[in-house]
Amino acid sequence: MTAQTPPSKGTRLDPWFGSYAQRAHNMRASEVRALFAVANRPEVVSLAGGMPNLNDLPMDIISKTVSDVVLHEGLVALQYGSGQGHERLREHILDVMRLEGISAHPDDVVVTTGSQQALDLVTRIFIDPGDVIVAEAPSYVGALSVFRSYEADVAHVPLDAHGLIPAALEETLTRLEREGRRAKFLYTIPNFHNPAGVTISLERRHEIIEICQRHGLLIVEDNPYGLLGFDGTTHPAMRSFDEDGIIYLGSFSKTFAPGFRIGWAVAPHAVREKLVLAAESAILCPSHASQLAISAYLEQCDWQGQIAEFRTMYKGRRDAMISALSEHLPDASWNVPDGGFYTWVKLPPGLDAKSMLPRAVTGRVAYVPGTAFYYDGTGADHMRLSFCYPTEDNIREGVRRLAHVVSQERDA
Ligand code: PMP
Repeated sequence: MTAQTPPSKGTRLDPWFGSYAQRAHNMRASEVRALFAVANRPEVVSLAGGMPNLNDLPMDIISKTVSDVVLHEGLVALQYGSGQGHERLREHILDVMRLEGISAHPDDVVVTTGSQQALDLVTRIFIDPGDVIVAEAPSYVGALSVFRSYEADVAHVPLDAHGLIPAALEETLTRLEREGRRAKFLYTIPNFHNPAGVTISLERRHEIIEICQRHGLLIVEDNPYGLLGFDGTTHPAMRSFDEDGIIYLGSFSKTFAPGFRIGWAVAPHAVREKLVLAAESAILCPSHASQLAISAYLEQCDWQGQIAEFRTMYKGRRDAMISALSEHLPDASWNVPDGGFYTWVKLPPGLDAKSMLPRAVTGRVAYVPGTAFYYDGTGADHMRLSFCYPTEDNIREGVRRLAHVVSQERDA
């Protein structure tokens, strides 16, 4: 084999540096990734990650369900399958979405490797470098990193306790039009927002759809947490009000288990065709074994009962988080989420969540600084605290430690 000469713009650390595509240069490891390696040590209470708590899943039943799939349908489960996803699972997905008022046909559904891949596929088919994506401020860090990798610009629109603010959306779209800039879609998380914890009110859902229709803007509705409302309320999906202008993204990661890596997109017909082509070129097909396992789980197990148990468990953890914040950090402010995994905390004036993080980790508590959730890296006055993974006792201890770090920071 002939040795290749590295291009001249290489560096000593990476001789191929000059060869990367521009989009690879845009891919950045999270600034806090190194710290999170430390944050995962057992002595640190991590209020940072968004991992679901799987302790209550009936592992024996799931194990039997999965092994039966291999035993009785192994030749299908272990084989390649359709790029759009297995038809049986696509039918089950309709049952899940019906809970949020969506009626669709199995042909409308594209099964993906988690909803993260759906986000990647949607961005891939719509975004040319420099195109604008409109998104809430703050917004899901994993979506922002996809947008960055396709060289999109993001125009953030503020939210409040009732979610994305329609008047601010209208203003942003009008400004972009005046500047001759092309917005391709609105990316929104209507339920139990990551990281802000808020839910878009019913009235606003209609207003936002109306504004987007008027401006000819597609909506990407990302909804992994919709069935995790603590009082059992399920809000109607925006997609249930508009089938032509909305791509809906769903996931089994928070309502069952992320390890199977199964999510989905429901899209208008022509968009769906493009998504399938993009998916086929990316992965040929989503894991057949995972799809059949999830189908069997949905057929044989009480999945709705399991989601109800998750809700009760997460509600207990939310309560522990809120009461600990009231007790230990009364000078901060936060929202009380009605579902999902996250509390969005505004620090007392003068504190910077990003620069404080190394000292917090030394103080054996971790969180995600607000800067991760803004395209331009602002938001240092906020932090996201997750209550999904640590136990109630650990949440209380974590907030106590956080309060200690905050008070040292103020005294410094
Ligand atoms: N969207 C949002 C808002 C999320 O919080 C997450 C996971 N943290 C995802 C998408 C991706 O989830 P998955 O790929 O596991 O379905």
